[in-house]
Amino acid sequence: MMNKLIFATNNQHKVDEIQAVLGNLFDVSTLKDAGIDIDIPEPHDTLEANATEKSTTIYTLTGQNCFSEDTGLEVLSLNGEPGVKSARYAGEDRSFDANIDKLIEKLQKKQNRQARFRTVISLILNGKEVQFEGICEGAILKERKGENGFGYDPVFVPTGSEKTFAAMTMEEKNKFSHRKKAMTKMIKFLKDIQ
Ligand code: IMP
Repeated sequence: MMNKLIFATNNQHKVDEIQAVLGNLFDVSTLKDAGIDIDIPEPHDTLEANATEKSTTIYTLTGQNCFSEDTGLEVLSLNGEPGVKSARYAGEDRSFDANIDKLIEKLQKKQNRQARFRTVISLILNGKEVQFEGICEGAILKERKGENGFGYDPVFVPTGSEKTFAAMTMEEKNKFSHRKKAMTKMIKFLKDIQ
């Protein structure tokens, strides 16, 4: 029987993405598939602590191998803002549009447009936690470009490209993506210990 791995998300798209790479090594399920219906809190001020909170919550509930991820956009001239608050930058309703408007406004008079996406994955395997980090360096534009993706994609151009994430296909974005880099590290770890 395949080893089970619960992903602390209800985003089926993210699950499909990782399942495709893991093949038959692990059977990845969403919270919903695992019969868990809770809104996991993200109360901490670092991505690392929130990722740990999410994975340990699921491990405590199920006793099963699981992982979580937390991502933030860190802007250099804003001292790392919005960072851990990326989803709720402009308010509790998590509006992508309002968040981008606030970011453009805050950067209006700044010369330095440098930013990076950072993902932290917390994996709990046989009761022990291991974390994996993925970083994508880039810059914030003064206006939106592109229709794809989500979040801050329309204003983020990764280093090494002329296009925003929102102007890329998923395949192109994955050549640069912070989340993909962190996932790749976790997958290598899981394969190496088999
Ligand atoms: P989450 O922890 O993956 O939900 O990410 C938190 C927030 O960061 C999201 O609501 C988005 O605003 C932003 N974010 C995370 N990943 C990306 C990305 O790949 N592109 C654009 N924005 C992202």
